[in-house]
Order: sequence, then structure tokens, then C-alpha cells
Amino acid sequence: MSFEDVYARGYRRIVLLDQEHTESASQKDDYYKESYLALDRDEMPRRVLVTAHHSIFRPRTADVTDCGPVSYEEYNRLAVTENILDSPRWSQKQADARDLLARQKALLKEVTPICPSCNRPLVLRQNRKQKNWFFGCDRYPDCDYTVSIFHNTLRRLQQAGLIT
Ligand SMILES: [Zn+2]
Repeated sequence: MSFEDVYARGYRRIVLLDQEHTESASQKDDYYKESYLALDRDEMPRRVLVTAHHSIFRPRTADVTDCGPVSYEEYNRLAVTENILDSPRWSQKQADARDLLARQKALLKEVTPICPSCNRPLVLRQNRKQKNWFFGCDRYPDCDYTVSIFHNTLRRLQQAGLIT
């Protein structure tokens, strides 16, 4: 609601902490009180309070009050729990996840055999009883071609988090 007001004051990477909305009895006035964590122009995390008033009688007003600095740890912790996409820690998590996915894809492409009957890449499967991993045709049960996985490859797949 008042996100734009915080941005307009030059703050970035905003975490919404708390939101309070009061409506007048006539329902013609709305009061908002919102608490944010944000980075200021110098990249310092600060707590910011926005009070806004919406009325059908008067133009919208918003006050942005800087309530002082907070620690980077607190800012990052809340940014992560609130899924704020552009917090530094969250960005790092996303980058790590992208890297992992790219590594997994590359590894799979490298080690996955092609089904000799169907000419398609096999897929990773796990034996239900013995729990061992193997490659099988994705056209199963129409095609029951399987191939076991060598120990080295198995270890690489485990390290990449593709199998348990
Ligand atoms: Zn096949």
C-alpha cells in the first residue's frame, strides 16, 4: 500500500514487518500504519514507519519516518523469512539454487545413457525393494530397457543431490 512511498524516499530492498489498517466508522477514511525494514541510500539497514491516510474527501497523504538503524543480521533474517526477493542473502540463495540446477542438468546430460531401442535419454529410477538406483527407459512399461549405474557415477549423482 505505501511501498511506493518508501521507494520514493530513496529506500530499497524493503521488508514489510507490520501492517495496521483502521477504517473510520463511516468507512470513508482509511488509516494505514506500516512498519518496514529497508536499505537507505548508503546501503544501511533502517527501520521505517509509514503512516498513510486515504479519504474520499481529501487527497491521500503519507508520512515516512526513519526510526533509526537496525543490524544487517536482523535485516537479512527478516528478508529471508519474508521471502524478499532482492535482499542480498535471498539473492545469494537463488543464485546458489540456479548453480546447483545447472550443475545437476550438466551432470545428468553427461552420464545419462540413451535407450538403444527408443533412442531417447533414460531416466533415473530407484528399485522399490532394494532401493538401488538405475537408469530406465521413460517409455516403461512399453520398453523395459534398464542399465545399472557404476559406483563412481552413483557417487557423483549423490554429491550433486540428484539421488539420496
Ligand atoms: Zn526404451
